Amino acid sequence: MTRVFVGIGSNVGDRQAHIERARQGLAGLAQTQVVRISDVYETEPVGPVPQGPFLNAVAEVTTGLDPFDLLDGLASIEQEAGRTPVERRQKWGPRTLDLDILLFGDRVLSSDELVVPHPMMHERWFVLKPLCDLDAGVVHPVLEMTVGELLAHVENGRHIGKAGHDG
Ligand code: ADP
Ligand code: MG
Repeated sequence: MTRVFVGIGSNVGDRQAHIERARQGLAGLAQTQVVRISDVYETEPVGPVPQGPFLNAVAEVTTGLDPFDLLDGLASIEQEAGRTPVERRQKWGPRTLDLDILLFGDRVLSSDELVVPHPMMHERWFVLKPLCDLDAGVVHPVLEMTVGELLAHVENGRHIGKAGHDG
């Protein structure tokens, strides 16, 4: 079993209900248990597309699935929540439910389909804050810093270089 952190975001429709659906969907995946869900934070959208504020949270799960099967499971939970199919999606656009694999144990993966650790997680307060609520001592396996340290950098406005594990 691997300890995994999943980022949850929603900024369309009944956002709180979508987060609850995410929890139920994760708990319903094969070989997967939800350990805990963080507090939920309301955050301003990041990026070029004007849209409503997000609710963000992080789930801690343990899973026997491999990372790609987990990613497939997350996509099906997103679809059940009414998410626009990937081919009609606007990059950075609004979403009923977004589920991202933030950390998959200490695995480091980089393919077209899946990059782990999530390549933006160390820059995003809305990911690091709820993740630190769950466990600030988790180590980012590429940056070799705890998520607590990464959050402190973000809150101090310091920039940590790109995770740099492409290829
Ligand atoms: P984003 O979350 O970046 O706004 P999407 O949710 O639309 O974008 O995801 C687009 C694609 O990102 C997914 O189809 C998936 O293959 C890919 N992806 C790469 N790394 C990850 C990851 N760590 N977690 C979730 N999806 C990922
Ligand atoms: Mg996503």
